[in-house]
Amino acid sequence: MQISESKRLFAHAQNFIPGGVNSPVRAFRAVGGEPLFIKKAEGPYLIDEDGNQFIELINSWGPMILGHNHPMIKDAVVKAMEEGTSFGAPTAKEVEIAELIVSMVPSVEKVRMVNSGTEATMSAIRVARGYTGRDKFIKMEGHYHGHGDSFLISAGSGAITMGNPDSPGVTQGTAKDTLLAPYNDLDAIEILVSANKGEIAALILEPVPGNMGLCLPKPGYLQGLRDICTREGIVLIFDEVMTGFRLAKGGAQELFGVTPDMTTLGKIIGGGMPVGAYGGKKEIMEFVSPAGPVYQAGTLSGNPIAMAAGLAMLKHLNEHPEEYARLNHIGELISDGIIAINKELGFDFTVNRLGSMYSLFFTSQEVNDFASAKLSDTALFGKYFQAMLKRGVYLAPSQFESLFLSTALSDEIIQKILDAHRESIKEIMN
Ligand code: PLP
Repeated sequence: MQISESKRLFAHAQNFIPGGVNSPVRAFRAVGGEPLFIKKAEGPYLIDEDGNQFIELINSWGPMILGHNHPMIKDAVVKAMEEGTSFGAPTAKEVEIAELIVSMVPSVEKVRMVNSGTEATMSAIRVARGYTGRDKFIKMEGHYHGHGDSFLISAGSGAITMGNPDSPGVTQGTAKDTLLAPYNDLDAIEILVSANKGEIAALILEPVPGNMGLCLPKPGYLQGLRDICTREGIVLIFDEVMTGFRLAKGGAQELFGVTPDMTTLGKIIGGGMPVGAYGGKKEIMEFVSPAGPVYQAGTLSGNPIAMAAGLAMLKHLNEHPEEYARLNHIGELISDGIIAINKELGFDFTVNRLGSMYSLFFTSQEVNDFASAKLSDTALFGKYFQAMLKRGVYLAPSQFESLFLSTALSDEIIQKILDAHRESIKEIMN
């Protein structure tokens, strides 16, 4: 594969952009090699600056659920652009999208638009603290909530130890209010709660985590969290930046029938434009400025172009529930195919899937938390990534990510993905 233009751009970029990229995982450091610079994308394909075409299994890390450059989203954006790109004042579209989100997501009675998932989670925690008058919050090991200081806390040594900053620049003062728990372990939460009685404002988690590779909640786990939070007056926050509008139109909370107090959203909600949102119960959201005392603002929040893209996307998903059946079918064909090929080749690897999200872990162990996800052979994953890329399939460049499927994947393309998988596994096991 010829990638000379990507190589040239990457070398040049490093003179002006830290590490040559605007978000670290794009640099391919976890899989080796150099990143491809993408020129355009259409339907199920990405096309790089050298003209190579790849089947897309990340879809901009989730948003492009209908495939790239969908005519409906494009038309909505072009039409909105004719009326101006930003006003910094209220618009009818913001009201329309808020009403739609409230009708789609079970926990959301009021919603505030922001510009990224990071802003959504940072704001939700601030509101939960303002609402409860408490400082601490619980986060799960291996879950990602964007790059706000208080979320960049690595796994601590014991259930009730305070977290340690994961990145220089995050102070101990900030880290001490983040309590860490292993996912899928209700006993660990009970221990944390009793050791910090009356001090915990919120418990935030990805209900179906995708940021340590995809893991599924054990039966009863999410309801167990709901019960503890209700009993203790803790605000339960589902971070559905990935799962929102993807696992079901009402996200993981609809699928599992567990309603949090607050929800954070991103990705699909902007149809590919930079958008996030947080919402929840009226009585909590009434704490947000200017209705209440918790300050949160944004010059470009509710941007009319972003709202037009998001509205087109959400209206479509709301009106076409059959899209979710199709996404599930595509996910099933791919994961069943991968499992069958692995079996045929004699490799016992773990595949976790829910709907249109899946991860292949290079371990035969069951993976349902951060500790088990880390058993995966990441060096082998790097080889698999490169082998798939060479065969025209673009995966997330890290083991600890979920893949995101789109409705643009036809049966013929799915067969190509499976053929590439067979050849790649054969190559890397030799
Ligand atoms: N929360 C979750 C669950 C995410 O997966 C991400 C990003 O991948 C974020 C928050 C942060 O979103 P953003 O990258 O838009 O800031």
